[in-house]
Amino acid sequence: MNDKLDLTTSIRSQGRKLTQARKLVFEILEQSREHLDAETIFERARQKNNRIGLATVYRTLALLKEMGLVNEHQFGQDHGHFETVQNNQPHYHFSCIKCGRVMECRYPQVLNLARDLCEKEGLQVLDVAIHLSGYCAQCRSGDGNNE
Ligand SMILES: [Zn+2]
Ligand SMILES: [Zn+2]
Repeated sequence: MNDKLDLTTSIRSQGRKLTQARKLVFEILEQSREHLDAETIFERARQKNNRIGLATVYRTLALLKEMGLVNEHQFGQDHGHFETVQNNQPHYHFSCIKCGRVMECRYPQVLNLARDLCEKEGLQVLDVAIHLSGYCAQCRSGDGNNE
């Protein structure tokens, strides 16, 4: 679980350069326990390096994703949310349609169940993506922010 991804090694082994922007974007994602979208990553990156542009952030995210260092999730909105692939325990996401909060749920049973089902069909499961959406506890009780 604490298999820390070594960005430097991964980047160099793929014959790419570890630019400041790549390092910065990756660090922001690594330090965050949230699922950030590109705009939020951009805002945080700007605080550390005001020369970085939004286009660079998008390009960098696409590259990190292509390299398998970062996952992108769509939570029913028109833009993706990113997280690093480290601690890559299978987990599922719940997103609140009111406040936008994203929570992670870990149910190892889900993967086992999927494997069982697929074994019967002769399939091999590599990944299971589950996205639940609705109202979080706060929004259900009427304390949600936004609105
Ligand atoms: Zn909510
Ligand atoms: Zn997640």
